[in-house]
Amino acid sequence: MERSWVNQAIAKIEADYQRSADTHLIKLDIACLTGIDIYLKDESTHPTGSLKHRLARSLFLYALCNGWVKQDTPIIESSSGSTAVSEAYFARLLGLPFIAVMPKSTAKKKIQQIEFYGGSCHFVEHSSEIYAESQRLADELSGHYMDQFTYAERATDWRGNNNIANSIFEQMQREPHPVPTWIVMSPGTGGTSATIGRYIRYQREMTKLCVVDPEHSVFFDYFHSGDDQVTCTQGSRIEGIGRPRAEPSFIPGVVDNMVKVKDAASIATMNWLEALIGRKAGPSTGTNLYGALQLACEMKKKNQTGSIVTLLCDSGERYLDTYYNTDWVAQQIGDISQYEAQLMQFNQSGQLT
Ligand SMILES: *Cc1c(COP(=O)(O)O)cnc(C)c1O
Repeated sequence: MERSWVNQAIAKIEADYQRSADTHLIKLDIACLTGIDIYLKDESTHPTGSLKHRLARSLFLYALCNGWVKQDTPIIESSSGSTAVSEAYFARLLGLPFIAVMPKSTAKKKIQQIEFYGGSCHFVEHSSEIYAESQRLADELSGHYMDQFTYAERATDWRGNNNIANSIFEQMQREPHPVPTWIVMSPGTGGTSATIGRYIRYQREMTKLCVVDPEHSVFFDYFHSGDDQVTCTQGSRIEGIGRPRAEPSFIPGVVDNMVKVKDAASIATMNWLEALIGRKAGPSTGTNLYGALQLACEMKKKNQTGSIVTLLCDSGERYLDTYYNTDWVAQQIGDISQYEAQLMQFNQSGQLT
Protein backbone atom coordinates (compact mmCIF):
# COMPACT_ATOMS: atom_id res chain seq x y z
CA MET A 1 0.00 0.00 0.00
CA GLU A 2 2.70 2.43 1.14
CA ARG A 3 5.04 1.23 -1.61
CA SER A 4 2.36 1.70 -4.21
CA TRP A 5 2.00 5.40 -3.30
CA VAL A 6 5.80 5.83 -3.45
CA ASN A 7 5.91 4.05 -6.81
CA GLN A 8 3.23 6.33 -8.19
CA ALA A 9 4.99 9.40 -6.82
CA ILE A 10 8.27 8.43 -8.50
CA ALA A 11 6.41 7.66 -11.76
CA LYS A 12 4.82 11.13 -11.67
CA ILE A 13 8.23 12.80 -11.31
CA GLU A 14 9.69 10.66 -14.09
CA ALA A 15 6.77 11.47 -16.40
CA ASP A 16 7.18 15.18 -15.62
CA TYR A 17 10.87 14.82 -16.56
CA GLN A 18 9.98 13.02 -19.77
CA ARG A 19 7.79 15.99 -20.77
CA SER A 20 10.60 18.47 -20.09
CA ALA A 21 13.21 19.78 -22.53
CA ASP A 22 16.82 20.58 -21.74
CA THR A 23 17.82 24.21 -21.16
CA HIS A 24 19.57 26.27 -23.85
CA LEU A 25 23.24 27.16 -23.94
CA ILE A 26 23.43 30.79 -25.08
CA LYS A 27 26.56 32.06 -26.80
CA LEU A 28 27.29 35.67 -25.95
CA ASP A 29 28.35 38.00 -28.72
CA ILE A 30 31.09 40.09 -27.12
CA ALA A 31 32.88 42.07 -29.80
CA CYS A 32 35.90 43.05 -27.69
CA LEU A 33 36.81 39.42 -26.96
CA THR A 34 38.20 37.64 -30.01
CA GLY A 35 39.00 33.97 -29.70
CA ILE A 36 37.43 33.75 -26.23
CA ASP A 37 33.81 32.63 -26.23
CA ILE A 38 31.50 33.00 -23.25
CA TYR A 39 28.37 30.89 -22.86
CA LEU A 40 25.42 31.01 -20.48
CA LYS A 41 23.50 27.86 -19.59
CA ASP A 42 20.01 29.31 -19.36
CA GLU A 43 18.40 27.74 -16.31
CA SER A 44 15.57 30.28 -16.25
CA THR A 45 13.53 28.23 -18.72
CA HIS A 46 12.71 25.38 -16.36
CA PRO A 47 8.97 25.21 -15.50
CA THR A 48 9.67 26.85 -12.11
CA GLY A 49 12.08 29.42 -13.48
CA SER A 50 15.49 28.54 -12.02
CA LEU A 51 18.23 25.94 -11.71
CA LYS A 52 16.51 24.84 -8.49
CA HIS A 53 14.06 22.86 -10.61
CA ARG A 54 16.82 20.29 -11.11
CA LEU A 55 17.64 20.26 -7.40
CA ALA A 56 14.01 19.96 -6.28
CA ARG A 57 13.44 16.99 -8.59
CA SER A 58 16.58 15.28 -7.28
CA LEU A 59 15.73 15.97 -3.62
CA PHE A 60 12.21 14.56 -3.95
CA LEU A 61 13.48 11.42 -5.72
CA TYR A 62 16.20 10.99 -3.08
CA ALA A 63 13.72 11.41 -0.21
CA LEU A 64 11.20 9.02 -1.82
CA CYS A 65 13.83 6.37 -2.56
CA ASN A 66 15.19 6.66 0.98
CA GLY A 67 11.74 6.01 2.43
CA TRP A 68 11.69 9.44 4.07
CA VAL A 69 8.56 10.69 2.33
CA LYS A 70 5.26 8.85 2.25
CA GLN A 71 1.66 9.69 1.45
CA ASP A 72 0.65 12.92 3.27
CA THR A 73 4.15 13.60 4.71
CA PRO A 74 4.44 17.40 5.11
CA ILE A 75 7.55 18.72 3.37
CA ILE A 76 9.49 21.49 5.11
CA GLU A 77 12.40 23.36 3.58
CA SER A 78 14.81 26.10 4.54
CA SER A 79 15.23 28.34 1.54
CA SER A 80 16.11 31.80 0.36
CA GLY A 81 13.26 31.34 -2.12
CA SER A 82 14.10 29.64 -5.42
CA THR A 83 14.35 26.11 -4.02
CA ALA A 84 11.05 26.56 -2.24
CA VAL A 85 9.33 27.63 -5.47
CA SER A 86 10.57 24.49 -7.25
CA GLU A 87 9.81 22.18 -4.31
CA ALA A 88 6.29 23.63 -3.99
CA TYR A 89 5.79 22.63 -7.64
CA PHE A 90 6.85 19.02 -6.97
CA ALA A 91 4.94 18.84 -3.67
CA ARG A 92 1.80 19.85 -5.55
CA LEU A 93 2.55 17.26 -8.25
CA LEU A 94 2.60 14.60 -5.50
CA GLY A 95 -0.24 16.06 -3.44
CA LEU A 96 1.95 16.78 -0.39
CA PRO A 97 1.68 19.78 1.96
CA PHE A 98 4.67 22.13 1.66
CA ILE A 99 6.05 24.79 4.02
CA ALA A 100 8.98 27.06 3.15
CA VAL A 101 11.01 28.60 5.98
CA MET A 102 12.70 31.73 4.69
CA PRO A 103 14.13 35.11 5.63
CA LYS A 104 11.48 37.83 5.70
CA SER A 105 13.52 39.78 3.13
CA THR A 106 12.72 37.21 0.40
CA ALA A 107 11.45 38.65 -2.93
CA LYS A 108 7.65 39.08 -2.99
CA LYS A 109 7.42 37.41 -6.40
CA LYS A 110 8.95 34.24 -4.97
CA ILE A 111 6.52 34.22 -2.04
CA GLN A 112 3.64 34.60 -4.50
CA GLN A 113 4.98 31.75 -6.61
CA ILE A 114 5.31 29.41 -3.61
CA GLU A 115 1.73 30.22 -2.67
CA PHE A 116 0.66 29.82 -6.29
CA TYR A 117 1.84 26.20 -6.16
CA GLY A 118 -0.12 25.68 -2.94
CA GLY A 119 2.83 26.01 -0.55
CA SER A 120 2.87 28.15 2.57
CA CYS A 121 5.60 30.48 3.81
CA HIS A 122 6.98 30.73 7.33
CA PHE A 123 9.28 33.69 7.96
CA VAL A 124 12.30 34.20 10.20
CA GLU A 125 14.21 37.41 10.88
CA HIS A 126 17.69 36.37 9.81
CA SER A 127 18.88 33.86 7.20
CA SER A 128 20.91 31.97 9.83
CA GLU A 129 17.69 30.99 11.67
CA ILE A 130 16.13 28.99 8.82
CA TYR A 131 17.85 25.69 9.63
CA ALA A 132 16.78 25.25 13.26
CA GLU A 133 13.30 26.56 12.59
CA SER A 134 12.82 24.10 9.71
CA GLN A 135 13.88 21.16 11.89
CA ARG A 136 11.60 22.35 14.69
CA LEU A 137 8.61 22.57 12.33
CA ALA A 138 9.35 19.15 10.83
CA ASP A 139 9.48 17.61 14.34
CA GLU A 140 6.27 19.35 15.38
CA LEU A 141 4.34 18.28 12.24
CA SER A 142 5.95 14.82 11.87
CA GLY A 143 7.10 16.07 8.51
CA HIS A 144 10.26 15.74 6.48
CA TYR A 145 12.88 18.50 6.48
CA MET A 146 14.23 18.33 2.94
CA ASP A 147 17.47 20.16 3.92
CA GLN A 148 18.86 21.25 0.55
CA PHE A 149 22.02 22.58 2.19
CA THR A 150 22.99 19.09 3.37
CA TYR A 151 21.63 16.92 0.57
CA ALA A 152 22.11 18.97 -2.63
CA GLU A 153 25.55 17.49 -3.29
CA ARG A 154 24.47 13.88 -2.87
CA ALA A 155 20.95 13.90 -4.35
CA THR A 156 22.30 14.73 -7.84
CA ASP A 157 23.86 12.01 -10.01
CA TRP A 158 27.27 13.61 -10.51
CA ARG A 159 28.61 10.94 -12.90
CA GLY A 160 26.16 11.92 -15.63
CA ASN A 161 22.50 11.02 -16.14
CA ASN A 162 21.78 14.31 -17.88
CA ASN A 163 23.02 16.43 -15.00
CA ILE A 164 23.87 20.05 -15.75
CA ALA A 165 27.58 19.36 -16.35
CA ASN A 166 26.82 16.49 -18.72
CA SER A 167 24.44 18.73 -20.63
CA ILE A 168 26.99 21.59 -20.88
CA PHE A 169 29.72 19.34 -22.32
CA GLU A 170 27.30 17.82 -24.85
CA GLN A 171 25.94 21.18 -25.97
CA MET A 172 29.50 22.50 -26.41
CA GLN A 173 30.50 19.70 -28.79
CA ARG A 174 30.26 21.70 -32.06
CA GLU A 175 31.73 24.94 -30.72
CA PRO A 176 35.15 26.33 -31.75
CA HIS A 177 36.48 25.47 -28.26
CA PRO A 178 34.30 22.54 -27.20
CA VAL A 179 36.10 21.86 -23.92
CA PRO A 180 35.70 24.95 -21.73
CA THR A 181 38.85 26.41 -20.20
CA TRP A 182 36.71 27.45 -17.25
CA ILE A 183 33.27 26.82 -15.86
CA VAL A 184 32.18 29.53 -13.42
CA MET A 185 29.49 29.10 -10.76
CA SER A 186 28.37 30.93 -7.63
CA PRO A 187 27.48 28.88 -4.51
CA GLY A 188 24.16 28.82 -2.69
CA THR A 189 24.01 25.26 -1.43
CA GLY A 190 27.25 24.61 -3.33
CA GLY A 191 25.50 21.65 -4.95
CA THR A 192 25.79 22.79 -8.57
CA SER A 193 29.51 23.51 -8.29
CA ALA A 194 29.97 20.11 -6.57
CA THR A 195 28.22 18.35 -9.45
CA ILE A 196 30.20 20.24 -12.09
CA GLY A 197 33.54 19.75 -10.32
CA ARG A 198 33.02 16.03 -9.76
CA TYR A 199 31.83 15.51 -13.33
CA ILE A 200 34.93 17.27 -14.72
CA ARG A 201 37.17 14.98 -12.68
CA TYR A 202 35.24 11.82 -13.48
CA GLN A 203 35.36 12.60 -17.22
CA ARG A 204 39.05 13.64 -16.92
CA GLU A 205 38.39 16.95 -18.69
CA MET A 206 41.01 19.74 -18.59
CA THR A 207 38.33 22.29 -17.64
CA LYS A 208 38.84 24.21 -14.39
CA LEU A 209 36.07 25.22 -12.02
CA CYS A 210 36.04 28.76 -10.65
CA VAL A 211 33.56 29.50 -7.84
CA VAL A 212 32.54 33.14 -7.35
CA ASP A 213 31.36 34.22 -3.90
CA PRO A 214 29.38 37.42 -3.20
CA GLU A 215 30.07 39.72 -0.23
CA HIS A 216 28.57 38.60 3.11
CA SER A 217 29.25 34.91 2.56
CA VAL A 218 31.75 32.54 4.15
CA PHE A 219 32.49 30.14 1.25
CA PHE A 220 35.52 32.14 0.07
CA ASP A 221 37.06 32.26 3.56
CA TYR A 222 36.31 28.59 4.16
CA PHE A 223 37.94 27.66 0.83
CA HIS A 224 41.13 29.54 1.67
CA SER A 225 41.40 28.81 5.43
CA GLY A 226 39.81 25.36 5.61
CA ASP A 227 37.95 26.50 8.75
CA ASP A 228 34.43 25.07 8.43
CA GLN A 229 33.26 26.86 11.59
CA VAL A 230 33.53 30.31 10.02
CA THR A 231 30.31 32.36 10.13
CA CYS A 232 29.17 35.85 9.18
CA THR A 233 26.39 37.95 10.67
CA GLN A 234 25.00 39.92 7.75
CA GLY A 235 22.98 37.91 5.23
CA SER A 236 23.97 37.86 1.57
CA ARG A 237 22.51 40.66 -0.55
CA ILE A 238 22.58 38.56 -3.74
CA GLU A 239 19.54 36.30 -3.66
CA GLY A 240 20.21 32.61 -4.11
CA ILE A 241 23.93 32.73 -3.34
CA GLY A 242 26.24 33.46 -0.41
CA ARG A 243 25.67 31.81 2.96
CA PRO A 244 26.39 32.70 6.60
CA ARG A 245 27.92 29.25 7.26
CA ALA A 246 30.01 26.77 5.26
CA GLU A 247 27.19 24.61 3.89
CA PRO A 248 27.80 20.85 3.88
CA SER A 249 26.97 20.64 0.16
CA PHE A 250 29.87 22.92 -0.75
CA ILE A 251 32.78 20.63 -1.69
CA PRO A 252 36.01 22.68 -1.72
CA GLY A 253 38.14 19.82 -3.05
CA VAL A 254 36.61 20.03 -6.54
CA VAL A 255 37.09 23.81 -6.85
CA ASP A 256 40.20 25.01 -8.72
CA ASN A 257 39.89 28.69 -7.91
CA MET A 258 37.64 30.91 -5.87
CA VAL A 259 37.17 34.65 -6.12
CA LYS A 260 35.09 37.26 -4.33
CA VAL A 261 32.85 39.50 -6.45
CA LYS A 262 31.58 42.83 -5.12
CA ASP A 263 27.78 43.03 -4.98
CA ALA A 264 27.86 46.32 -6.92
CA ALA A 265 29.81 44.54 -9.68
CA SER A 266 27.18 41.76 -9.78
CA ILE A 267 24.35 44.26 -10.29
CA ALA A 268 26.25 46.32 -12.88
CA THR A 269 27.03 43.11 -14.81
CA MET A 270 23.39 41.98 -14.59
CA ASN A 271 22.42 45.28 -16.27
CA TRP A 272 25.26 44.98 -18.77
CA LEU A 273 23.94 41.53 -19.76
CA GLU A 274 20.46 42.93 -20.34
CA ALA A 275 21.91 45.43 -22.82
CA LEU A 276 23.76 42.57 -24.54
CA ILE A 277 21.00 39.95 -24.88
CA GLY A 278 17.82 41.99 -24.40
CA ARG A 279 16.72 39.90 -21.44
CA LYS A 280 16.73 40.35 -17.70
CA ALA A 281 18.56 37.81 -15.53
CA GLY A 282 18.78 37.58 -11.75
CA PRO A 283 21.63 39.08 -9.70
CA SER A 284 23.54 35.80 -9.19
CA THR A 285 23.90 35.62 -12.97
CA GLY A 286 25.65 38.99 -12.70
CA THR A 287 28.06 37.50 -10.15
CA ASN A 288 28.76 34.51 -12.41
CA LEU A 289 29.28 36.64 -15.49
CA TYR A 290 31.56 39.16 -13.77
CA GLY A 291 33.74 36.22 -12.70
CA ALA A 292 33.69 34.87 -16.26
CA LEU A 293 34.65 38.28 -17.70
CA GLN A 294 37.56 38.56 -15.27
CA LEU A 295 38.86 35.16 -16.39
CA ALA A 296 38.38 36.12 -20.05
CA CYS A 297 40.46 39.26 -19.47
CA GLU A 298 43.25 37.21 -17.90
CA MET A 299 43.18 34.82 -20.85
CA LYS A 300 43.25 37.72 -23.30
CA LYS A 301 46.27 39.26 -21.54
CA LYS A 302 48.12 35.95 -21.96
CA ASN A 303 47.01 35.72 -25.62
CA GLN A 304 45.07 32.54 -24.87
CA THR A 305 41.96 31.46 -26.73
CA GLY A 306 39.21 29.19 -25.43
CA SER A 307 35.73 29.10 -23.99
CA ILE A 308 34.16 29.90 -20.63
CA VAL A 309 30.76 28.60 -19.53
CA THR A 310 28.67 29.98 -16.72
CA LEU A 311 25.01 29.91 -15.69
CA LEU A 312 22.03 32.15 -16.14
CA CYS A 313 20.47 30.95 -12.88
CA ASP A 314 17.07 32.66 -13.00
CA SER A 315 15.22 35.41 -14.79
CA GLY A 316 15.15 39.04 -13.69
CA GLU A 317 11.34 39.22 -13.81
CA ARG A 318 11.34 38.08 -10.19
CA TYR A 319 13.37 41.12 -9.15
CA LEU A 320 11.72 44.06 -10.91
CA ASP A 321 10.95 45.80 -7.60
CA THR A 322 14.41 45.10 -6.15
CA TYR A 323 17.55 44.60 -8.27
CA TYR A 324 15.90 46.29 -11.29
CA ASN A 325 14.74 49.25 -9.20
CA THR A 326 17.49 51.88 -9.12
CA ASP A 327 16.30 53.41 -5.80
CA TRP A 328 16.29 50.00 -4.13
CA VAL A 329 19.77 49.25 -5.50
CA ALA A 330 21.11 52.62 -4.31
CA GLN A 331 19.75 51.95 -0.80
CA GLN A 332 20.50 48.24 -0.45
CA ILE A 333 23.65 47.75 -2.52
CA GLY A 334 25.04 51.28 -2.86
CA ASP A 335 26.72 53.04 -5.73
CA ILE A 336 27.28 50.78 -8.74
CA SER A 337 28.52 53.49 -11.13
CA GLN A 338 32.18 52.50 -10.76
CA TYR A 339 31.40 49.05 -12.19
CA GLU A 340 29.06 50.44 -14.84
CA ALA A 341 31.94 52.63 -16.03
CA GLN A 342 34.34 49.68 -15.87
CA LEU A 343 32.05 47.56 -18.06
CA MET A 344 31.58 50.42 -20.56
CA GLN A 345 35.35 50.62 -20.76
CA PHE A 346 35.52 46.82 -21.15
CA ASN A 347 33.27 47.04 -24.22
CA GLN A 348 35.98 49.15 -25.86
CA SER A 349 39.18 47.55 -24.58
CA GLY A 350 38.32 43.98 -23.62
CA GLN A 351 39.93 44.64 -20.26
CA LEU A 352 38.39 45.14 -16.81
CA THR A 353 40.60 47.74 -15.20
C1 LIG B 1 20.58 28.28 -5.64
C2 LIG B 1 20.95 29.34 -6.56
C3 LIG B 1 22.28 29.49 -6.95
C4 LIG B 1 23.39 28.59 -6.44
O1 LIG B 1 23.24 27.21 -6.75
P1 LIG B 1 23.67 26.07 -5.75
O2 LIG B 1 23.64 24.82 -6.54
O3 LIG B 1 22.66 26.03 -4.64
O4 LIG B 1 25.01 26.38 -5.21
C5 LIG B 1 22.56 30.54 -7.82
N1 LIG B 1 21.60 31.39 -8.24
C6 LIG B 1 20.31 31.24 -7.89
C7 LIG B 1 19.28 32.22 -8.38
C8 LIG B 1 19.94 30.22 -7.04
O5 LIG B 1 18.67 30.08 -6.69
